[in-house]
Amino acid sequence: MLTPAFGWTTPVANATVLFDEGKRELEVDISELFPEQSRAQISQWIEHLAHSLTLVYGHWPRERWAIDVEPVSGSIDDPIPWAQVHREKIDRVAFYVLSSASADTLKHEWTGYHEVAHLLLPYRGWGDTWFSEGLASYYQNLLQARVGVLSEEQMWQKLYDGFARGKADDRFDGQTLLSVNQQMREKGGYMRVYWSGAWYFFAADISLRAKSNGAYSMDNALKQLNSCCAAQSLSVAEIIAHLDASTDQEMFSELYQKVYQSRKMPPYASLFAQLGIEIKNGQVSLVADGANARRRREFLSSTAL
Ligand SMILES: [Zn+2]
Repeated sequence: MLTPAFGWTTPVANATVLFDEGKRELEVDISELFPEQSRAQISQWIEHLAHSLTLVYGHWPRERWAIDVEPVSGSIDDPIPWAQVHREKIDRVAFYVLSSASADTLKHEWTGYHEVAHLLLPYRGWGDTWFSEGLASYYQNLLQARVGVLSEEQMWQKLYDGFARGKADDRFDGQTLLSVNQQMREKGGYMRVYWSGAWYFFAADISLRAKSNGAYSMDNALKQLNSCCAAQSLSVAEIIAHLDASTDQEMFSELYQKVYQSRKMPPYASLFAQLGIEIKNGQVSLVADGANARRRREFLSSTAL
């Protein structure tokens, strides 16, 4: 039997509980304001989303967590106009969803994967937005490919497009990432901040895989971070210290120094080249054979399962 680590409210009448293979619990609360048929579509989507999060290290990040879904009006071009992660007594992800959206439409929206990927870090959100948004922006793409809604090529194209958006957001080039991040809510520069962060985790992932000949990746590093620290509120500096300690190197701090002092989007073409990905006119082209291509394909499944 599970011992509750904190207070647990009785699920309300319309909430259902999902379990992962380790019997961790996800309370899903889909608003009764949705028509019944929409609720069925949304619950299919939530099951799919929750499954995608197990494709990092096999189980959900916490013993108990929750997803709430509320209806919102808007255009079907943007079926999830708003979503937010609340790090409260239990981690709770709130989605605001169009009631006309089908499960299939929702499964093809990146927003869901992005929000659940935030839970991979024991971070409670003060400063250093680039770090948490970077991890979510990077992993949202891995999750989509692993769960089968993006092909390998589409995944790399999405990552490339993200880095290109980061580079194109050049209004604050010359200022460090740290200072752009600090002024982001007033002045903008979101793409530079988010995708410099994604660059950090992409570069770290490549480095871990290279040093271990493919045996160890960000998946394993996140798994270890989860097993030591999931219930803690850690600063970014503390998380990085844990990541370095668990991998017995200083790569995470070295990359941290490099990225937070960067004065423009860090270069990414060489990272893609290491994985047998050529860029022609903004389009990725995947080299079919060789060691780089083999390494690239290893991103499509977890190394921590
Ligand atoms: Zn986010």
